Amino acid sequence: MLKRVDILTLFPELIDPYLSSSMLGRAQQRKDLVLLSHDIRAFAHNKHHQVDDIPYGGKMGMVIQVEPTLLALESVKTKVSKTILLTPAGEKLSMSLCRDLVQTEHLVLLSGHYEGFDSRLLNYVDRCVSVGDYVLTGGELPALTLTDTLIRLLPGVLGNDESAVMDSFFNGLLDWDVFTRPQKFDIFKVPDVLVSGHHQNIEHWKIKSSLGNTWRYRPDLLARHPFNKEERDLLRQFFVEEDKNEYNSR
Ligand code: SAM
Repeated sequence: MLKRVDILTLFPELIDPYLSSSMLGRAQQRKDLVLLSHDIRAFAHNKHHQVDDIPYGGKMGMVIQVEPTLLALESVKTKVSKTILLTPAGEKLSMSLCRDLVQTEHLVLLSGHYEGFDSRLLNYVDRCVSVGDYVLTGGELPALTLTDTLIRLLPGVLGNDESAVMDSFFNGLLDWDVFTRPQKFDIFKVPDVLVSGHHQNIEHWKIKSSLGNTWRYRPDLLARHPFNKEERDLLRQFFVEEDKNEYNSR
């Protein structure tokens, strides 16, 4: 199980406030967990701590050099570490990838900037991860996205241990609709069943809402879902109710 994450970056000031605030900050106080950033520039052997240089063959932008990056990596790596490079070319971040990665005791995350790292760095990493098919200025947000997602999966981090299990994607579906007070807002009422106190009906409603949301927003997930009979019946019921819903604006 994950005990430590080290993030190597040129901009630790972007990382540190997030690691020390809210859930990640609390998780480190309560658990056997260490989350740290390290400045790759501290491993440069030149007066101005420069770690980037112009690309061979010509291209706009600068490339982060392999030597200082490897020295930074060696300074935190242990026998149990796995090294992950954040890059648009990586495997797409998903809940199933996170469930796999959270089993690793120590992760070292490499956040690039500018044109990215010298490609020879790929020979020294275990995995490459992307947060999606778009390009960010740096790997800091991707590293924090990954870290945050992993920490939520650790037992005891969320107030209620069940929460992560009930979140979107955990069982391959989106979350159900949630409501809080007031019970009526404008013309919109909280579904009667949720205030009925009938536990079995409430559970059925949640599954139906979860299936309905997945059908509405992510039909690709539903197409891959291994339905049981109850889910099949509830989705059918959702379609019937959806047809009759005069307030439906979605
Ligand atoms: N020239 C690179 C390309 O086109 O693939 C983009 C470099 S990007 C401006 C700088 C750094 O941001 C990358 O080295 C990587 O660490 C990070 N980055 C940007 N987009 C990312 C994404 N979608 N997933 C993970 N990391 C990303």
